Amino acid sequence: MVDEKVGVTLAGRQASQSSTPEARLRLAHDLVERVKELNCLYGISRLVEQEGISLNILLQGVVNLIPAAWQYPEVTAARIRLRNRQFLTASFQESPWKQQETIVVDGRKVGTLEVFYLIDKPFEYEGPFLKEERDLIHGIAERLGHIIESKRAGAALHRLYGRERKLRKSLQLEMQNRVDFTRQLVHELKTPLTSLMATSQLLSEETKGTRLEKIAGYVWDSASSLNARIDELHDVIRGEIGNLKLERRPMRLDILLSSVVEETRAFAKQRDVSIQLELPWEGQREVFADVDRVRQVLLNLINNALKYAAAGKRVVITAIPSDSAVTVEVRDFGHGIPEREMRRLFKPGYLVSRAKSTGGLGIGLTLCKLIVELHGGEIRAESNVGKGSSFFFTLPYQAD
Ligand code: ADP
Repeated sequence: MVDEKVGVTLAGRQASQSSTPEARLRLAHDLVERVKELNCLYGISRLVEQEGISLNILLQGVVNLIPAAWQYPEVTAARIRLRNRQFLTASFQESPWKQQETIVVDGRKVGTLEVFYLIDKPFEYEGPFLKEERDLIHGIAERLGHIIESKRAGAALHRLYGRERKLRKSLQLEMQNRVDFTRQLVHELKTPLTSLMATSQLLSEETKGTRLEKIAGYVWDSASSLNARIDELHDVIRGEIGNLKLERRPMRLDILLSSVVEETRAFAKQRDVSIQLELPWEGQREVFADVDRVRQVLLNLINNALKYAAAGKRVVITAIPSDSAVTVEVRDFGHGIPEREMRRLFKPGYLVSRAKSTGGLGIGLTLCKLIVELHGGEIRAESNVGKGSSFFFTLPYQAD
């Protein structure tokens, strides 16, 4: 064993330096005592290293190791007392010849470590005990304090981990219930809506050229707008639980921007707002993105800009390339957004009071943020009340 080797080497070296045979004998005896102490400490370390060992087994193990480290093992008894528990050597007995040390945990006295000689022995340093034994009992008690401290911390961590696992499980279940409910809800809402859309389309065709055609058109517009809202809500819920997936591939942003701008021209005209697209870069740089999802972001931002732009003004869409990404800006010259409302702009369900009249759900920007961030990009807004707003989002050229 390592300790014995150390002991033997020390014994050899020190004994050779001593002059008289008695002194040598004394030295050898002392060194054997030190080796016994080292063995005890080593044994405690081995116990502590045992994975998953309970505090009770560990403390009993420590008590069992103690007698062998004292000068008269055959008459040594030991006891650890911790509040309502105690750990004893085999056939433990109390006696008047006792050494004792306090066990301190987190600065508080939690118990004692006691060593007894069961019969009277010659007087040494502390009753029949050696000075080294005083140091040893002190060292062991100190070690016990640390062991109890770390075991308690470990147990607390274990409890916390268990609680966290339980919480995670119930959260997962709740999420699954929410997903199932949403799926069911979307299905329930979309089934009649789809037939409403189909009917209004049919009605449009049947009433072509008559006064009713326009009315059929309104029904179609409202039904398809409601349909889009339901899809958005579904997307936001999927996005929040990490179920919104992208189909990214290299795509030409300039082509998409032009097509979305064309798509929104009719609405712009209706709002008496001109729409302007600025593509200041040369060539056909591609971004790595899901074209349908980016279209959704653009439509949301441009429609908002058109909705809130002042009549007779412009909405400007600009793409600004940098080294790793393209930033798209959608700018309007409308009434702007107050500072206190800017922070909540991308949160679900947010509606600026005056916008309630627009009938939106306040989820368009939440969905934009989800989509842009899924692409590894960022979205933000700048606004000046009375002057207008700019919404910026970035799209990286490459996947992360
Ligand atoms: P919704 O889906 O109801 O349109 P959004 O999430 O797109 O909701 O927008 C949330 C709110 O942010 C809007 O109701 C509106 O009050 C405000 N908002 C968004 N874009 C603009 C803009 N360009 N100018 C002024 N207000 C805006």
